[in-house]
Amino acid sequence: MSAPGEVAVIGAGWSGLAAAVECAAGGSRVTLFEMAPIAGGRARDAGAAGEGLDNGQHICIGAYRETLRLMARLGVAEADAFVRLPLRLVDAEGIGLRLPPGPPGLAFARGVLRHRRWTWRDRFALLRTALGWQRSGFRCDARSTVAELCASLPEPVRHELVEPLCVAALNTPAESASATVFLRVLRDALRSGRGSSDLLLPRRGLSALLPTPALASLAKMGAAIRLAHRVDRIEADGSAWRLDGDPFGAVIVATSAIEAARLVAPHDRAWSERAAALRYEPIVTVYATSAGARLPEPMLALHADAERPAQFVFDRGRLGGAPGLLAFVVSGAADWLERGAAEAERAVLAQAREALGAFLREPLCPVRTIVEKRATFRCTPLLERPPMTISPGLFAAGDHVDGPYPATLEGAVRSGVAAARATIG
Ligand SMILES: Cc1cc2nc3c(=O)[nH]c(=O)nc-3n(C[C@H](O)[C@H](O)[C@H](O)COP(=O)(O)OP(=O)(O)OC[C@H]3O[C@@H](n4cnc5c(N)ncnc54)[C@H](O)[C@@H]3O)c2cc1C
Repeated sequence: MSAPGEVAVIGAGWSGLAAAVECAAGGSRVTLFEMAPIAGGRARDAGAAGEGLDNGQHICIGAYRETLRLMARLGVAEADAFVRLPLRLVDAEGIGLRLPPGPPGLAFARGVLRHRRWTWRDRFALLRTALGWQRSGFRCDARSTVAELCASLPEPVRHELVEPLCVAALNTPAESASATVFLRVLRDALRSGRGSSDLLLPRRGLSALLPTPALASLAKMGAAIRLAHRVDRIEADGSAWRLDGDPFGAVIVATSAIEAARLVAPHDRAWSERAAALRYEPIVTVYATSAGARLPEPMLALHADAERPAQFVFDRGRLGGAPGLLAFVVSGAADWLERGAAEAERAVLAQAREALGAFLREPLCPVRTIVEKRATFRCTPLLERPPMTISPGLFAAGDHVDGPYPATLEGAVRSGVAAARATIG
C-alpha cells in the first residue's frame, strides 16, 4: 500500500496544475498524468511555434485572485503576463462603457453616466437596476435566466452591455444563462475591492502564463510528470487507488467532465451521471491578419447579430504578438457551428471588414480558425454540477466541478486548490 502522501493528479489543465502545485508545496509526493504532449488543457498555446496563437483568446479580470496568487507563487510577474486596463467595452467608434480608475462600484456608476450613446433614461434605468442587485446582495430567483433578470432594462443596455458581458463571462446566451451565476460574477467584479473589475489581457502565450512555469516548479519540487500518458482506469485497492497499476493514497481527477465521468463510473455512478449530463457551448476563435493594422484599443466590442458572429476582437499586436494579428471571438457559437466552421469564418471576416474598415489599410487574410466544440459547460439555471468529493481519497477538480464560478480559469484554479487541500484532509 502506498504512503498517505502519494497523490496522483490526472490532467494538466489549469485545475490539475493548480492541484499538483498545491499538493507538492504541501509536502505530498505528486505524480501528474496528462494525455496530451503539452500541459495547459483548453488554455495553452496552439499552432506552430512562433505563430503566436492561443487555443482561444482568453481574458481574465482583477477578481481572479486565486489565479493571480498561483501565478505569483510560480514567479510570473503580473506586469509581464497581462496588460491591465480599467474595464471598458467600447466599439470601433470608441463608444461604450469605459470605467474610470477608482473603486469599482463608483467607477461603474461614473462609466454608465458618461456613456455617449445611451439616453439618460437608459443610463438611469441601468443604475437603478444595478442598485437593486446590490441591495439584494446580488442574489435572485435561482430559476431565472439573465434575459429574465434584465427584461426591464432598455434594449440598448441589454444588447450593448448585458448580452456581450453574459457570453463573455458565462459563454452562454442571456436567454438560457443562469442569472444567479451572472450576478455572482458581477458581485465579485464590482465588490471585491480596487482593481477587481479590471480587464487583464494576456500579453504572452497562454502556456507561458501558467502551464510552463507550473511544470518547472513541479519538477523542482520533485514531482513526477508524465506527459502523453492517458490514464485508462482508476481501481480501488483497499485504502489506496491504483492508476494503470501504480498505487496512490489519493487521486485528483482533473480531466474534462466527460473523461471524469468515464473514469469515475465504476466507483460512483451518480457522480458519473451528473458529470456526463453537462451540456456544452462552443467558442470559435478566428485569427486573421492585415499588415499595419492597429486598433484603437487592445480589445473592442463588436455588434453581433444573426449575420455577424463575433462579439469581440483583440489586437494581438498591441498585446505583445505579431503586429496586424487580430483575434475574433465568437462565444456561445452553437448556432454558427450549425452553419459550419467555414461559414462562421467567412461571416467573421465580412463583419471585420465592415466594422474595422477604417483601421485596415491592407487586405484582411485568415490565419487560422480554432473551433472548441466543448469550450465550456452551458451555465444554465439550477444546473447540478458534480461535487469535489467522490469517495474517500478520490476527488474531482475542473471548471465543471461544483463551485461559485462559471467555466473560467479562476473556477478551474479554485477547484484545483480546493481538491489539493482536501487530499491533506
Ligand atoms: C476558446 C476558449 C476560450 C475561453 N475563454 C476564457 C476566458 O476568456 N476567460 C476564462 O477565464 N476562461 C476562458 N475559457 C475557459 C477556460 O479555458 C477553462 O475554464 C479552463 O482552461 C479549464 O481548465 P480545466 O483544468 O478545468 O480543464 P481542461 O483545460 O480541459 O484540462 C483537462 C486536462 O485533462 C487532460 N486529460 C483528459 N483525460 C485524461 C486522461 N484520461 N488522462 C490524462 N489526462 C487527461 C486533458 O488533455 C486536459 O489537458 C475559455 C475556454 C475556451 C476553450
